[in-house]
Amino acid sequence: MRTITHPYAELKGGATGGASGGEWVRGNLHAHTTASDGSRPIQEVVSDYAARGYGFLMISDHDILTGPDEYARVTAGDMTLIPGNEVTKNGPHLLHVNASRLIAPDPIRQNVFSAIAADTGFAIVNHPNWLADFNHCPIERMREWVPYAGLEIYNGTIGRLDGSPYATNKWDLLLSAGRRVWGFANDDSHLPENDVELGWNTVYTADRSIEAIVDALARGRFYASTGVTIESIEVEDDTIRVVAPNAEKIVALMQVGRRFAETRGNSIEVRVPENAQYVRFECWGAGESFAWTQPFFVEG
Ligand SMILES: [Zn+2]
Ligand SMILES: [Zn+2]
Repeated sequence: MRTITHPYAELKGGATGGASGGEWVRGNLHAHTTASDGSRPIQEVVSDYAARGYGFLMISDHDILTGPDEYARVTAGDMTLIPGNEVTKNGPHLLHVNASRLIAPDPIRQNVFSAIAADTGFAIVNHPNWLADFNHCPIERMREWVPYAGLEIYNGTIGRLDGSPYATNKWDLLLSAGRRVWGFANDDSHLPENDVELGWNTVYTADRSIEAIVDALARGRFYASTGVTIESIEVEDDTIRVVAPNAEKIVALMQVGRRFAETRGNSIEVRVPENAQYVRFECWGAGESFAWTQPFFVEG
């Protein structure tokens, strides 16, 4: 018998109908400060995101760990600060989310992924389609490496650089090969005037502790957004329903990026096609704004 496996089963009013008592909070996992090549000191960056109502933020300077000692010296209101860094030198960039130590930027990147797996937290492959060849991180490498939680399917700062800020093409290739990786949207903020509040991850979390937020991210219990809000995700047998109040169009996709259904408006209900290996949804809003659900995997 077919079953649909997905990260949203514990949502309030979701597939289980259970009231899990969590809340949706949004955050950015990729921001630079003057400790590396950002233009503002850490307190200014933290205050900016806190003032915008973010629930969590990770400072991710290049090969520099920002952890509890650094965070103890800044004021963040009730915004949760997650330890981390961007592994940068010697190869494709990746985030180490909830790092407890700095992992050396080994040119053999598999060694970095293995070291992160042995530490706390998880890895995210960054801006795969950056640079003039749209190929900062080749799909061949992404197919080889294990483990990592996901990739940046949107990186705001790449929107003003060569290449594409989007990487849903590589996401669909990985998912189609059976990899279970999540899609993240991050600012990668360096400059305050251009780079802030472009993309974020909205998690459904039990509370605002680092552990709960990181656990929700690792399990994929979030959606990525550049402006569209998802209100509900419901799964009943092989029918999936998504409601996104400020969406103008919702597209349902399956392996190798094939669009099998779309609606004009802010909700969609689809039956998972017989031959689907996974499905995912893109909610398109005004201008160039989106929300991306995580994939729903078909088993059996
Ligand atoms: Zn980078
Ligand atoms: Zn960066």
